[in-house]
Amino acid sequence: CLYCLTFRSSFEGGNNSAEAIAQELCRAFRKHWLQTGSAVQLSGCLGSSKQRSVLKEDIPRELESSLNLAEEIKIISKLRGSSGWAPPRLQIIFNIHPSVKRDAVVAAQNFTCVGCGTPIESKYIRRLRYCDYLGKYFCDCCHSYAQSSIPARILLKWDFKKYYVCNFSKHLLDSIWQHPLFNVLSINKALYTKSKEMDRVREAQEQLFHLKKLLKTCRFGESVLKEFEQVPSHLTEELHLFSLDDLVKIKRGQLLPLLKDILKSSTCHVDGCELCQAKGFICEFCQSADLLFPYQTAKCKRCTECKTCFHKACFKSGGCPKCQRIAARRTPSEAPSLVP
Ligand SMILES: [Zn+2]
Ligand SMILES: [Zn+2]
Ligand SMILES: [Zn+2]
Ligand SMILES: [Zn+2]
Repeated sequence: CLYCLTFRSSFEGGNNSAEAIAQELCRAFRKHWLQTGSAVQLSGCLGSSKQRSVLKEDIPRELESSLNLAEEIKIISKLRGSSGWAPPRLQIIFNIHPSVKRDAVVAAQNFTCVGCGTPIESKYIRRLRYCDYLGKYFCDCCHSYAQSSIPARILLKWDFKKYYVCNFSKHLLDSIWQHPLFNVLSINKALYTKSKEMDRVREAQEQLFHLKKLLKTCRFGESVLKEFEQVPSHLTEELHLFSLDDLVKIKRGQLLPLLKDILKSSTCHVDGCELCQAKGFICEFCQSADLLFPYQTAKCKRCTECKTCFHKACFKSGGCPKCQRIAARRTPSEAPSLVP
């Protein structure tokens, strides 16, 4: 749908599952907000009676049945046609709005409230309320001084302060709060150097990611896998992907201790489990009896091709010996053949 498209196009750097979640959210949000919240609110604070009748009579009915793009475009162009206004788009905003003078922003909004399209007389401009998420001004029907942390400020500045947002943004941010939509690696990987907490979480996550895979293959792994349920599953199944809620918990120091606990129980299991030990690697360079596992990120180097593990210290720059053997078998021998 149109909303999903705008939502997705402004959603940078996610993976497929995050995108699917985003779409799902978008659908749920759109249904809820457009059918109840804004429709009621819009009819309450619109100025012109012509607009009011358009909104009251046509929109809720059409939106109820509008499952196709054509109808939605029709509604939106109808709104644009009558007032130059269309509802705010559902989008995840990744940039911090530059501070621009109120008059300039309101002029760019065509002197209307962004939330409902009500025309604003110039003497009332100073009474409009700013939404830090959308970077726009709203009337008092559409903005009730709700507060929220702003995704872009968290992700770019590690700033968790609360800012005033309009009702639309508050609802949007609340509804995405728990969902893993933010890939720190693609949005702002400098966050790992800026925030020590983030870097420590990443380290623990990387180990847990490999441990979980190993434990899932172990017949005796069930009870220790239960411990992983203390944290949302995406944190131990995908790297760099976070919800706003995760980031707040990282900042408060609430997430790392949990990850460390799970890490402790998991390594304890692997160390004492025959089945898991049987899956360890022997370093081909030094042949020592010290078993290697992919989760030992500090000492283990893993070949990206064949997944074999070596000691980081032993690994020679020439490349993976196993892959070299495989390659040698594939290329036909260039030794002169003894054809009679
Ligand atoms: Zn308004
Ligand atoms: Zn095991
Ligand atoms: Zn070695
Ligand atoms: Zn290899």
